[in-house]
Amino acid sequence: MLGSGAAGLAAALAARAAGAEVTLAEATSTVGGTTALSSGAVWIPGNHVDVRGPAVDSVEQARLHLESLAVGDISRVLLESYLVNAPLVAQRLEATTALRWQPLPYPDCHRELPGGMGRGVRSLEPLPLVVPSSVSALVRSPLPWRPPLTVTEMVTGAATPELVRERSRTGTLVGGQAMVAALLHAALEAGVDVRTSTRVTDWSPDGVVVDGGKRRRARVVVATGGFERDPALVRTFLRAPVRGLIGAPGSRGDGLRLAMAAGAALGTMSEAWWCPALRVPGDEIDGEPVYRMLFAERARPGVIMVDRRGRRFTNEAQNYNDVGRAMHGFSAQDFRFEADPSWMVFDAEVRDRYPIVSMRPGDPEPRWLLRASTTAGLADLMGVPPETFVDTVDRFNASAQAGSDPEFGRGRGEYDSAGGEFTLRPLSEPPYYAVAVHAGLGGTKGGPRTDERGRVVHVDGSVVPGLYAAGNAAASPFGMAYPGTGTTLGQALTFGDSAGRAAATD
Ligand SMILES: Cc1cc2nc3c(=O)[nH]c(=O)nc-3n(C[C@H](O)[C@H](O)[C@H](O)COP(=O)(O)OP(=O)(O)OC[C@H]3O[C@@H](n4cnc5c(N)ncnc54)[C@H](O)[C@@H]3O)c2cc1C
Repeated sequence: MLGSGAAGLAAALAARAAGAEVTLAEATSTVGGTTALSSGAVWIPGNHVDVRGPAVDSVEQARLHLESLAVGDISRVLLESYLVNAPLVAQRLEATTALRWQPLPYPDCHRELPGGMGRGVRSLEPLPLVVPSSVSALVRSPLPWRPPLTVTEMVTGAATPELVRERSRTGTLVGGQAMVAALLHAALEAGVDVRTSTRVTDWSPDGVVVDGGKRRRARVVVATGGFERDPALVRTFLRAPVRGLIGAPGSRGDGLRLAMAAGAALGTMSEAWWCPALRVPGDEIDGEPVYRMLFAERARPGVIMVDRRGRRFTNEAQNYNDVGRAMHGFSAQDFRFEADPSWMVFDAEVRDRYPIVSMRPGDPEPRWLLRASTTAGLADLMGVPPETFVDTVDRFNASAQAGSDPEFGRGRGEYDSAGGEFTLRPLSEPPYYAVAVHAGLGGTKGGPRTDERGRVVHVDGSVVPGLYAAGNAAASPFGMAYPGTGTTLGQALTFGDSAGRAAATD
């Protein structure tokens, strides 16, 4: 197995359970990749955790929903496999590892489309977990600004400073770290040979070369994450320039290059799990710059986003994938991406009430924050046309006062209120603030095409013998869609499991 994120770990466990000798090679010095940085949420239609069971959700409803989101390079064969296997894998991981799920109070991202489900049905997250220190020491550290809290605790306000202190004191892991730790612990106990600082870049039908040593005969599951940290691959394949990388630095496209060299057919190459992202100077991961995903902030009362023309361009409160995609809007006239960078704008009440990225109410104002006493003055600082921007704010304020957003329908969808407090409120209390926001992503979505067993498909339509792929290293079957919070990790675990099993039994 190449790579130790959700896909690689799930593949290792499945292959070992099927009786294979398994080596898990991880390029970096810790286990977990971007998975360990994540919230660990998975989107699993028809999961066993929802005690209301088939009364609420079913394969038919989920299929209907995926059909309504079928835009772009989708694979119906793999989606069908997902609908059947994702719930089985989620259940099996609970039975065979220390991972325990709880429902996440998030609805599907497009809940109002056919087959969509409301809060707490399809999205799940790991319960907090303690593992032996010999295991947790191997797991990639969380992003320094992420508190040791579950998403549920963060959005329901259940978190207290005492709870945070208790988690830190007891070494309790949450989110993606909990997922990685549970799977890693089970893999080590099952006898998987886990090797960190082991970057594998070469494969042929005769096997792999590990760190320049001898070629070893082995079936290989490529689970190396995406290619977002390789600028040349990004320029070649992605549909827009993307600056805001929020994930771990191991995603250099090694698996993609390896699969291309083996003659793999590629799919979903222009897509990624998009998001709006913000740069806080000094933020780094393994010495490389890292951005922060802009999440609940943009849905707060008194917050809007505007593009370089000073206009709103999307419903700010919708899911991050689709806000990120809206930032790719291109002006043919000016030959530029109008919403990259864009600006998140808010008034004094927001500044006084809510944390904004790394800034808490009452904190001194950081250099990345712009402030002006009038909206026209703020437009000057942002470099957007003042008349347009002032008009944008006035129009938003008038409709917010009336309780609606006729332009972008903010507040109409159930997802819009998923992040906590949600109302439409005018920006009325000076001073006004702005923060630059960049188009970003949590991982690319393209790679070698696979069949439903995770086997890499050759450009001639045959299967590449001995080569498998899963997670962000493989072509996602979801096309342009992000059906629900946790689709990425749901996909990584499910197809990682299939690929590992196939690699062990072929
Ligand atoms: C802050 C944040 C929060 C997120 N929250 C969620 C969430 O809650 N739910 C969700 O579904 N998604 C979430 N995501 C996205 C999700 O974490 C990733 O898409 C997912 O982890 C990808 O899993 P993976 O196994 O494919 O890759 P990764 O987890 O990135 O693992 C790939 C591993 O392969 C290693 N590797 C690379 N090249 C080689 C090589 N040549 N040899 C050996 N090893 C190699 C890498 O170092 C890395 O450790 C989030 C992302 C971020 C950044």
